[in-house]
Amino acid sequence: MSKFIDSCLGKLEEYVPGEQPQERKFIKLNTNEFPFPPAPEVIAAVSAAEVGKLRLYSDPTCRILKEKLAAQYGVQPENVFVGNGSDEVLNFAFAAYCRKGVAFPDISYGFYPVYARLYGVEPETVPLKDDFSVSAEDYFGKNKAILITNPNSPTGLLLPVSEIERIVRSNPDNVVMVDEAYVDFGGESAVPLIKKYDNVLVIGTFSKSRALAGARVGFAFGDAALIRDLEKIKYCTNPYNINRLSLVAAAAALDAQAYYDEKDALVAETRDKTRAALTALGFEATDSKGNFIFTKHERISGKTLYEALRSRGILVRHLGGERIREYIRITVGTPEQMETLIDKIKEILNSLD
Ligand SMILES: *Cc1c(COP(=O)(O)O)cnc(C)c1O
Repeated sequence: MSKFIDSCLGKLEEYVPGEQPQERKFIKLNTNEFPFPPAPEVIAAVSAAEVGKLRLYSDPTCRILKEKLAAQYGVQPENVFVGNGSDEVLNFAFAAYCRKGVAFPDISYGFYPVYARLYGVEPETVPLKDDFSVSAEDYFGKNKAILITNPNSPTGLLLPVSEIERIVRSNPDNVVMVDEAYVDFGGESAVPLIKKYDNVLVIGTFSKSRALAGARVGFAFGDAALIRDLEKIKYCTNPYNINRLSLVAAAAALDAQAYYDEKDALVAETRDKTRAALTALGFEATDSKGNFIFTKHERISGKTLYEALRSRGILVRHLGGERIREYIRITVGTPEQMETLIDKIKEILNSLD
């Protein structure tokens, strides 16, 4: 870093993304990407004609995409915000709502504390229960912003929307954010709450269940006033935040929802089968409703298993941190990839004898 950087920024700890090796030699099960390609309609939408239009700015209002999102989720376009990945939506939401304080579980998405500190706030991390579940009561009357990932990552555990509603109701003077990055693999969405409460913001993404991680499109649903807050920050920083190709790709993905519903169900089925196979091998695994499995084995540490899989060509995520040191998080790939995974794990366990 240079001597010129602002001293507060210079001290910040950065978020460390999962490895993204650019050569294709790994079975990549480390960052919860979708194992299947985008729908054919999406590939067709990113056409030569659209590339030709790149000389023109993209639509700063994201009108077409907002209208499609509103129709699909049963809300109005003024209840929809679109961001450059849900990471950008989270960034804006932290800027807007978290400077007075923010609370979230001690085990969840590793980006949250980074955003909090970017805006000068030391976050309150609320311990999950011993079984990694969220206790709604822990968030009652917090008097600060609250952020719940549902299903949670890396545990995959689901909190019923009725419990989220209790948190929302007990914090009428603060915004409760619900990060639903994984909701399409078996979760229950909190979007209906936005019609009843003016303090709930539900955040989603095209990265996990719609095969568009590389396009960088995320969204949020909330009361129209909350959406205007996020728009304000967008128009103060980056009005053309979604590029033309990503706008048409995301809109086409919504038109191809049947394709994704079928593939998301296959991912969920593969998850449950793989989890059963792991359990049969002596693994412990949480009841994940995401597109990943969170698991540990008493005979091998999380780090050793991560390294043994890596040396056999499979990348998984070892997140570390005190309570989850022994765990790895495995993204659910294709059924064939999961068979290879199980074979390699058997090989590793046998080599311990
Ligand atoms: C992957 C992920 C995100 C970020 O998704 P993008 O839309 O790709 O920025 C946000 N929240 C959680 C919980 C995630 O797992």
